[in-house]
Amino acid sequence: MSPRYPLLLDLAGRRAVVVGGGPVAARRVGGLLDAGAVVTVVAPALCEDLAALVEPGRVEWVAREYAAGDLVGDLAGARVVQAATDDADTNAAVAAEAETAGIWCVRADDAERSAAWTPATVRFDDVTVAVSAGRDPRRARRLKDRIATWLQSGELPLRRVRRTPGAGHVALVGGGPGDPGLITVRGRRLLADADVVVVDRLAPRALLDELDAEVEVVEAGKGPRAHALTQLEINDLLVARARAGQRVVRLKGGDPFVFGRGAEEALACARAGVPCEVVPGVTSAVAVPESVGIPVTHRAVARQFTVVSAHYARAGETPDWAGLAATEGTLVFLMGVGQLPALTEGLLRNGRPATTPVAVVERGTLPDQRTTTGTLATIAEVAGARGVRSPAVIVVGEVVDVAAELTALTAAAAEPAEAVEPAGAADPAEGNAQGNADG
Ligand code: SAH
Repeated sequence: MSPRYPLLLDLAGRRAVVVGGGPVAARRVGGLLDAGAVVTVVAPALCEDLAALVEPGRVEWVAREYAAGDLVGDLAGARVVQAATDDADTNAAVAAEAETAGIWCVRADDAERSAAWTPATVRFDDVTVAVSAGRDPRRARRLKDRIATWLQSGELPLRRVRRTPGAGHVALVGGGPGDPGLITVRGRRLLADADVVVVDRLAPRALLDELDAEVEVVEAGKGPRAHALTQLEINDLLVARARAGQRVVRLKGGDPFVFGRGAEEALACARAGVPCEVVPGVTSAVAVPESVGIPVTHRAVARQFTVVSAHYARAGETPDWAGLAATEGTLVFLMGVGQLPALTEGLLRNGRPATTPVAVVERGTLPDQRTTTGTLATIAEVAGARGVRSPAVIVVGEVVDVAAELTALTAAAAEPAEAVEPAGAADPAEGNAQGNADG
């Protein structure tokens, strides 16, 4: 059999005939209507779905059986015919007449004897993908569904290569903590559509590899090969590019509005009258502890958590250690590695027990993630000895112990695990020395 010849037809205002009145015919009429065809349905009776589609000038109903000669007689002028009755002889007769009359006929009952086929189709924006899969329409539909998912998620290169610049806009996209799988579907889709991506050092860098070669990537954060842009420069860049008609994605780590200065960028766009969409992201404050089995809340252990920036812009300013020490539940510190000695000292001085478990998770969700555990009394020293570096999330509270419990249970369920090295200086007698949970 020769390969079939794919073709898209412009049926707008052109006549199509559907023979049959059941659900299959109804679906075919629906497809033809989507394409703007003028449809004549020939059937003695119509199912409910099909009857609902009848509309003068668009879907005319000829209420009788198909009769020999119809395609050149009463129903003359059709460009395509759908033979969709449940009677094979009728369908065969329609197909034979269509062949003689030079009209393309799709047989719903017998793909093998059909002269034309309607593929499974998915439309996205102005893109149409049609799938035909041999004699297996369900296989074609499954393929089509998967392609639809990919199109929606931005995994396929849908990016329009525009000749005339349109209205530009900015999307502040939260990229999640680092694993490329932890961006939202919406964020990924916008990224796939971007002309320019302004990216932070802590954004999920792996996603940049998937961009089209002609997409411009601007490094906004400090990096080995880039100097940092100031926040004002970033704001100006976003506005200027959008005004030039570009689709700008500002890709940020975690969530844009959690210590990400995202709101400053949104305000700058708003002041400049540039359309700006904010796409939430999975914040490292929750996801990074979670990625090593630490829940920020846990029944009967912690029913609230406080997320604190340990970074203070002005010298001499410090977090309110007394207030934080008195806060119930879990404390989560971002940007706190350099402050670890001050942080533990501040909490201890204000009454948090020395035995309070602490975990420091570096580069959470990334392949080289590392966890260091200890107590308020030991963690600063242990972390120093291990050379703990930013970016890291520091978790203070009993919830840290849940991770050890999880690890123990998981290890027991699996093979006899290799003994994990203890975190270091923690005193086992205190009952909270943690094994390190290096992934
Ligand atoms: N908007 C981001 C936070 C930006 S502040 C969010 O919602 O996650 C930057 C701080 O986030 C870092 O100093 C570090 O404390 C934390 N951080 C971000 N990504 C991290 C990661 N993968 N592992 C550990 N900490 C991370």
